[in-house]
Amino acid sequence: MEMREFDTPTKNTWCPGCNNFGILTAVKQALAELVNSGEMKPEEIVILSGVGCHGKISDYIKVNSFYCLHGRTIPPAMGIRVANQKLKVIAFSGDGDAYAEGISHVIHAARRNLDITLVVHDNEVFALTTSQVTPTTKKGFKTKSAPKGSFETPLNPLHLMLSCGATFVARGFSGDIKHLKSILIEAVRHRGFSFIDVIQECVTFNPIKEKYLPKIYDLNKEGHKVTDFSAAWKRASEIERIPIGIFYREERETYEKQLLNERILVEEGPVPSIKKVLQEFT
Ligand code: SF4
Repeated sequence: MEMREFDTPTKNTWCPGCNNFGILTAVKQALAELVNSGEMKPEEIVILSGVGCHGKISDYIKVNSFYCLHGRTIPPAMGIRVANQKLKVIAFSGDGDAYAEGISHVIHAARRNLDITLVVHDNEVFALTTSQVTPTTKKGFKTKSAPKGSFETPLNPLHLMLSCGATFVARGFSGDIKHLKSILIEAVRHRGFSFIDVIQECVTFNPIKEKYLPKIYDLNKEGHKVTDFSAAWKRASEIERIPIGIFYREERETYEKQLLNERILVEEGPVPSIKKVLQEFT
């Protein structure tokens, strides 16, 4: 299968040069590779996205997709996975979508260890609404909502996910498609909650590439042990250099395995009418 077979006829409306294009290419390449290796079928893939520039990714990949409310990619992703364990569920979110509106869902998905993948397009601003502060905006950065510069301490998404019990924690860079593709493949293969925070340049409101590029390095080429939690925490604390790659990985039983074992709920007969269910409560 060629990555082009995941193209859709929908007109792409991202700004020219937007680094969301890099993420889109890496995702299509990763999916094509996973299909070609026999690890999944295209019809078994479900993607979800929230509100923000990232959200349009649902329109640009030809698989089952679900466009969610702001910050609410995780609840339907969990429902889909619990209903049908045969599906590969990949949720996309932005830094505002995931770490502001949707943060409680992200925390509980991580600790529950559902077998879903969350990819966060982290450009450090609310870009779709023309630049306001998000939880990952750097101190001093000037936006429309903070004309004198943000004075809030930014959230560290990797520390958050490590402390919540995520079993796969990684960081990618939209400017390194080959590397991002390799992390995406490992994240989808992982049995449990896999999380990737992707540094994504917003060329219109937060052009970070020139500043970040000289600092970025692949931690997995520097002998980092992915099963060492303390080492992962330390790498995630680095500021002078910016590590990308897989920080942490562990095997733990998934939520759905504990809840259902091998049962596939959607194969157990027709879904009861919602009217009948509601009547029980009236
Ligand atoms: Fe991309 Fe920024 Fe344009 Fe949104 S506003 S499409 S994130 S460059």
